[in-house]
Amino acid sequence: MTMFIQTVTGALPVESVRIADAHAHVWIDPPSGVTPEARIDLHDYKRIYQEVVQFANAGGTLLVDCQPGGAGRDTRMLRRLSNDTGVRITAVTGVHIRKYYPVASWQWRANVDEAAQYFIDELMYGTRESLDISAEPIRAAVIKIGYEGVIEGQTQMLMEAAAVAAHQTGAAILFHTEQGRNAEALIPFYERHGIAPNRLYMCHVDKRPDIGLHRELAQAGVLLGYDTFGRPKYDPENGVWKLIPALAEAGLTHAIAVGQDFAFPSMWRSYDGEPGLTFLQSSIVPRLRAIGLNDDVIQQMTARNIAERLALTPR
Ligand SMILES: [Zn+2]
Repeated sequence: MTMFIQTVTGALPVESVRIADAHAHVWIDPPSGVTPEARIDLHDYKRIYQEVVQFANAGGTLLVDCQPGGAGRDTRMLRRLSNDTGVRITAVTGVHIRKYYPVASWQWRANVDEAAQYFIDELMYGTRESLDISAEPIRAAVIKIGYEGVIEGQTQMLMEAAAVAAHQTGAAILFHTEQGRNAEALIPFYERHGIAPNRLYMCHVDKRPDIGLHRELAQAGVLLGYDTFGRPKYDPENGVWKLIPALAEAGLTHAIAVGQDFAFPSMWRSYDGEPGLTFLQSSIVPRLRAIGLNDDVIQQMTARNIAERLALTPR
């Protein structure tokens, strides 16, 4: 049975994904009212276009954009970028952590039903900002939850709403974790809400390089998002580059998704930053080969695992 990913330009068969950035940011235009410290401005179309073209030329086929609506996402721009470059892009519904929103944002007052309905609508009918365009509305592929490590208050409501929406649509749930903090608590919470670990995708967990924990999460069926390769601040040599051989040794590479998380313009070459979006092809992939992983395993970690997790499960 062919499985499909819902990209901003339509359905994409899982097996056609060759090289994916499993945690990307290709457009962030924050709403006014976001505190200056939390503002990330990544919305210069020409520069972004240039760099996504380079990603395409280096064999890149999919970018998993991780900015939810209300926190700077614009799926109309994601579609335009995809059409102009040929790189497929997926969008997230859901919510980021609170600091990326203006104080009065409705997401932080919504009840479970309202939030779930919003997530479901964005997955099934189209993202809010795309509903009034004349072309086909743009659907989100996955539900994001910003999780700071504590399940309480509005975060808990939104997490429950994500379970309802995942149930109803077959979409996976992607987590921003705060450096992996209390990631293990997500499994029992979602099991109680009827969502199996093999529908969960936990990002930024390589910032907490506890090998035992990673093995447990992987064995449970969670997809682990590793995304500090190009982020020297998080000491990838002692983090992700220790985790990967350990998980490979344990036969768990099916649980790893390679991402870059280049949200800041200072990480884009076209903004005169480093290392740039093609770091995946020019540096990460060769290094995976150099540590002894074969092409099939590399293909898993840089394409197949994320593609399979994003595919909607049959309802
Ligand atoms: Zn991110």
